[in-house]
Amino acid sequence: MISQAPAYTGKTLPDKSEAKKQEPRDFFVTEHCLYLTPGLYERLDRLVREYAGKPLAVFDLDERRSGVLQPMDWAHCSPAGKGRNRCGSKKAPAEITKIEIANKIPLDEIRSARRLELDLVRDIPLELFYEWLVWHEIHHSVHNDPLVAAGIDIHGHPGIKSAGDRIKLMQAMELEADRASFHRLFPERTLKAGTPAGIKKVRSIEPYLVLLHEIRAQRGIKRK
Ligand SMILES: [Zn+2]
Repeated sequence: MISQAPAYTGKTLPDKSEAKKQEPRDFFVTEHCLYLTPGLYERLDRLVREYAGKPLAVFDLDERRSGVLQPMDWAHCSPAGKGRNRCGSKKAPAEITKIEIANKIPLDEIRSARRLELDLVRDIPLELFYEWLVWHEIHHSVHNDPLVAAGIDIHGHPGIKSAGDRIKLMQAMELEADRASFHRLFPERTLKAGTPAGIKKVRSIEPYLVLLHEIRAQRGIKRK
């Protein structure tokens, strides 16, 4: 896998009048939302196809949220047939077929999001936010994380003895995807939780990274 970080565009936030004149831009932000632009979509789609071997789909955030709302549900990598699975099929889901991102991201949600080690406002420049999100989902996708999670649901695992273990394993997936996506943007920097309580929590999750790698190995999923 290529470890080269994507190019940083270095563009500054446009004001509204400037943005109108200069389409297409790499990103567009208003008082309330960060928007996916056609130019940014094209670049991220190429990234997803190159690194995850899948197309990048876009969903309408408002439309999607007419159903159940999840925190940080601005992006997904979903197995095909997920909906059918929920409706009672015992069949394990097929491979992940696409990565999806929202057409817009509310800024107040970025500000209030809680990640284990990342402060999304402090650590991820807004102009790189979509790219960070896409790298995060590429990491989940190439490691088949949703399938690992679904497999645990269906079959169980000797290392997962309680609901608490399962939560920690899911948090380990998020911790790893955050670290990987941050490293793509800033290969020279390392992440660390901002508070003693946060550091303690990360330490309690880190052993589950080992378990996660074991589970992937059993399922024939490469670590890197
Ligand atoms: Zn994630």
